[in-house]
Amino acid sequence: MQLKIVNVSAITNKTVLVRVDYNVPLNLSATQPTVKDVIVRVKDDRRIRDSLETIKFLLKNQAKVVLIAHLGRPKNPADTQFSLEPVAKHLSQLLHQPVQFVPKTVGVGAQKAVTEAPPGSVLLLENLRFHPEEKKNDPVFAKALAKLADVYVNEAFSASHRSHASIVGVTRYLPAYAGFALTREVSTLASLMEKPKKPFVVVLGGAKISDKVGAITYLSKLADIVLIGGAIANNFLKAEGFEIYRSFVEEASNVKASQPQDYTAIAGQLVDQYKTEKILKDGYIPLPKLIYPIDVVAAPSLETHSQNQVQAIDLSHDMADTDEKTQLLYLDIGPKTRKLFTEIITGAGTVFWNGPMGVWENELFAAGTRSVAKAIVNSEAKTVLGGGDTIAAAHYFHYEHKFDYVSVAGGAALEFLSGKMLPGLKPLVE
Ligand code: ADP
Ligand code: MG
Repeated sequence: MQLKIVNVSAITNKTVLVRVDYNVPLNLSATQPTVKDVIVRVKDDRRIRDSLETIKFLLKNQAKVVLIAHLGRPKNPADTQFSLEPVAKHLSQLLHQPVQFVPKTVGVGAQKAVTEAPPGSVLLLENLRFHPEEKKNDPVFAKALAKLADVYVNEAFSASHRSHASIVGVTRYLPAYAGFALTREVSTLASLMEKPKKPFVVVLGGAKISDKVGAITYLSKLADIVLIGGAIANNFLKAEGFEIYRSFVEEASNVKASQPQDYTAIAGQLVDQYKTEKILKDGYIPLPKLIYPIDVVAAPSLETHSQNQVQAIDLSHDMADTDEKTQLLYLDIGPKTRKLFTEIITGAGTVFWNGPMGVWENELFAAGTRSVAKAIVNSEAKTVLGGGDTIAAAHYFHYEHKFDYVSVAGGAALEFLSGKMLPGLKPLVE
């Protein structure tokens, strides 16, 4: 995919509308119990830092930078906890220059602020989602945004799977370019799909299979081996006839009722479809392409804090249904699976990882996620990490910085890896 990348001749001396993703977690803390004011701090500024390269490039070329972004899911402008004002302060610290926060998104107030700002200045407009028209991709709202500038730059890959006014609509009225971070994300994800260094190992886990089923299906075609852990493994275990007791499992989508999907059936079909692929290093050990846990760590509750209540269950052994067992939840991959996954990852040429292997937030169920993270960063492979909770886990285990690429794009990245053309990328294609 060849993108029109932002460049000197397109933006010099221009007013540039930059769609960024500043949907960052905020920390609200009261300064003193008696003072009503609260200090709002940005807890995780990865997405803000990702936009700096493009902003600095624009500033260097005397452009006027008008940033637009969304934050959370506000109902209306009275939801002041969704104001982007604290983000403007944070950005200003990172840029070492003032960032003017504009309490309006479109209209006379916004226009005046933009017109009066000198070239080389940075403005951040108020939350796009204070206007319901944003999510509706309303053409009047898109036009109002476009009116503020001469050129549009999309630097929000993580919002580009949404057909919103600031992502799609606005590109009908302004010349549109791809920002540097967006371009990097696209080329990294595309490199997984086009000729990844082999063996290409995909590691998938996490909570909700509905988020991931598209990526699982598409990546299964491309990968040499797909390792499956986390709660999504329960669909595979169930499909293969294993007892999962009270384990968390998302059986069917009730969200998209128009096209109900039976996730356990899909898992079973995928296993069957790729039953005996021969992969792995020189020996070509015959393995199925999709590998789900051969043993698990189980406990009666997510909040179990006593090692005595935790047990490893070997799924290849016949399990008698004692009363005690029927109360169990599978909360991590087991020791044999850890060893198998480590072995496979160690021989990989490329690894893409999304989704924790277990409930890593509880130390009793963290070993699977920790060992997979360790195996990936210790491998010689090109490594790509994605998923909010997965990044948090890798960060917690001190492995995050050792990945070649960390994708903070969440759902957009998974949709891209489902083989879909994202609506926000389409207008940026050369
Ligand atoms: P990401 O944000 O990286 O895409 P998800 O949101 O899909 O990941 O899933 C993350 C959560 O899944 C973790 O925080 C973890 O607690 C939960 N999880 C992982 N394994 C299990 C399991 N076996 N049972 C229940 N929850 C699980
Ligand atoms: Mg998550």
